[in-house]
Amino acid sequence: MELTVDVSQTVPGETVSVNVKGPVRLPDGFSHGKKAAAADVSFTGSLCRESGVFQTGRFIIEGSLTAEIPAVCALCLKDIRWTVDCGIREFYSREPGDIDEWPAADNILDLTQAFAANILTALPMKLVCSEGCKGLCPACGKDRNNDNCSCNE
Ligand SMILES: [Zn+2]
Ligand SMILES: [Zn+2]
Repeated sequence: MELTVDVSQTVPGETVSVNVKGPVRLPDGFSHGKKAAAADVSFTGSLCRESGVFQTGRFIIEGSLTAEIPAVCALCLKDIRWTVDCGIREFYSREPGDIDEWPAADNILDLTQAFAANILTALPMKLVCSEGCKGLCPACGKDRNNDNCSCNE
């Protein structure tokens, strides 16, 4: 449970810094060839406990996330590590009401699901080893990055 924040000591209106690192499991099939890949995630940011009559049980976490994801090039099928950098702004609540609020149960915010959702949103449809990847020859299956085969296009 590395990707959690204990908020039991916070008071309304307080902002604390948050630096966490840990694995985030991504769903099966997000990138073909890698089942249930775990991204290495690090997050640097802050956590604010909201103040005000109606908001004492709500928390805002914001900052920047970096994730390294083991994946497979969609064109040549080589193993690659894809890096995602994205900004995060998420809400947690002791009494989640809105659809965009994650639960803050037992004074522990579990960031794993929020991070996974942000990573998946930030991923392109296809992960490739490089922009110029030539892929595999559809006829003989050779990796055209290494080898020019003599098949006709
Ligand atoms: Zn490739
Ligand atoms: Zn070929």
